Amino acid sequence: MAQELFSYSCESCNTHICTYSNEWVEISETYSTYENPQNYAEVGLERVKLDRAGSKDSELERCTLRPLRCKRCQTGLGLLCVRAPEEKKRYQ
Ligand SMILES: [Zn+2]
Repeated sequence: MAQELFSYSCESCNTHICTYSNEWVEISETYSTYENPQNYAEVGLERVKLDRAGSKDSELERCTLRPLRCKRCQTGLGLLCVRAPEEKKRYQ
């Protein structure tokens, strides 16, 4: 069966950021991840190696976050959780 692929572009410069299929696995009520990583390609996304800690007293406290930005215009696009304590592994 053919899978529908979605594409996401940068709002600032319209560069193509990534492609993903519409198959999500629900981990909790507020967090989901994609089911097939091979259908996910982040061609225009840059993972900035400036890791920082999640804010104290937030849900991501004690997690390590890596900023994501557009390769072309450097606009910040979000944060990736690259390290998490055992009880928060679902955020990784
Ligand atoms: Zn951009």
